[in-house]
Amino acid sequence: MDWWVSLPKVELHAHLNGSIRDSTLLELARELGDRGLVCFPDVECVILKHDRSLTEVFKLFDLIHILTTDHETVTRITKEVIEDFAAENVVYLELRTTPKKNASKGMTKKSYMEAVLEGIRAVNTVEVDIFSEPNFDCPANAGIYARSDGCARNGTAKKKIYVRLLLSIDRRETTEAAMETVKLALEMRHLGVVGIDLSGNPVIGEWLTFLPALEFAKEQGLLITLHCGEVPNQVEIHAMLDFLPARIGHACCFGEEEWAKLKSLKIPVEICLTSNIKTETISSVDIHHFADLYNSGHPIVLCTDDSGVFSTSVSGEYSLASSSFGIQKREMFQLARNAVNFIFAGNKVKLELEQVFDLAAKSLE
Ligand code: 5GP
Repeated sequence: MDWWVSLPKVELHAHLNGSIRDSTLLELARELGDRGLVCFPDVECVILKHDRSLTEVFKLFDLIHILTTDHETVTRITKEVIEDFAAENVVYLELRTTPKKNASKGMTKKSYMEAVLEGIRAVNTVEVDIFSEPNFDCPANAGIYARSDGCARNGTAKKKIYVRLLLSIDRRETTEAAMETVKLALEMRHLGVVGIDLSGNPVIGEWLTFLPALEFAKEQGLLITLHCGEVPNQVEIHAMLDFLPARIGHACCFGEEEWAKLKSLKIPVEICLTSNIKTETISSVDIHHFADLYNSGHPIVLCTDDSGVFSTSVSGEYSLASSSFGIQKREMFQLARNAVNFIFAGNKVKLELEQVFDLAAKSLE
C-alpha cells in the first residue's frame, strides 16, 4: 500500500457536504434531473469543474445542498464520507456540518443531526467509535457503546476510526439561529458532538452576530474552531484571535501583526493546502504559510477541507506537503502524530491514538 495511505492520519477540518464522492453527487443530480427538478447536464458541468474561486465554491455548496438536504441522503453521505476517510487510514475524524432546516422535507436542525448519527451507525466497513469518553456517563449512550465494540464479538480485528462531530454555524445565520445550533450541540454532547465551527462565505456576516452564541458555547465547555483570515479582514482576524478559539482554520490573509499574535497565543492552525491553492486564496504552494508555521514549530495539522469539492484526500495532502516543502517521511510521521494533541476529544481517546501511532511507527520504518 502507498506509504501516505498507510500512515495513520488525524483529520480535523472536513465539511460533510464538501466531502461527498462525485459519483454520489452525480447520481443524486440525475435522480432530481429525471424528476424535472434540476437540469442534469448543467449540474453535471458544475460538479465536474475542478478549479473554482472561493465565490464559486459557495455557489457550488448551494447546489450540493439542494441535492443532499433530505434525511435519507444526509444519512447516506455521512456513511460514505466516513468509510472513505477510514479507507485511507484516517484513525480519528472530526467531521463538521451545518445543521439545516428543510420545511419541505420536515427537516429540523435536530432531525438533520439525527440523520447524520444514523449515517455513522450505518458504517460497516470499519469499526466506529463515536463515543467513548467516561465522563459523559449517560444511558442514551448504551447503543453507541455497543456499536463501538461490536466488531470485537466475532474476533475479527476490523480497522477502527474515532468519529467526533462539530456543528457549524453558517455566516449567513442570525444570532438566534447560531444559538439554536449551540444548544443543539449541547444536547448532543453525549452523542459525540465535541465542538462548534464558524464557517460559510467569509465576506458575508459580522463577527459580532456570532459572538454571543460562541461565547455561550465556550462557557458551556464546547471547543471552538473558527474559519479565520480566508479574506483580508484584519479587524475580524484580531477579534477572532482575542476570542481564543481552540483552533482556527486557514489563516491565509494574515499580516505581520496577525502572525505575531497567532504565534504568541500558540493557537493550532488547520492547514488545507489544496483548498487554498484551488480557490486561489494562496497563489502557489511554495509560498504557502505552512512552511513558516512548520519551521517555527507552530502547532499545525494538515486537513482536506472539502475532499470532494477539491478532489483531494488526506494522504494526498501529506504527500503534497512532503514534496512541496522537502520534508522527509520520518518528520511527516511526527507531524501526523502531533495532530493528536489538537483533537477535541478527551484524554482517553488521545492515549488510544498514541498507541495507534506507536504501533504504526514500528511497521512504517
Ligand atoms: P456542510 O456544513 O453543509 O456539511 O458543508 C458545507 C458547508 O461548509 C458550506 O456551505 C460552507 O458553509 C462550509 N464550508 C465548506 N468549505 C468551506 C471553506 O473553504 N471555507 C468556509 N468559510 N466555509 C466552508
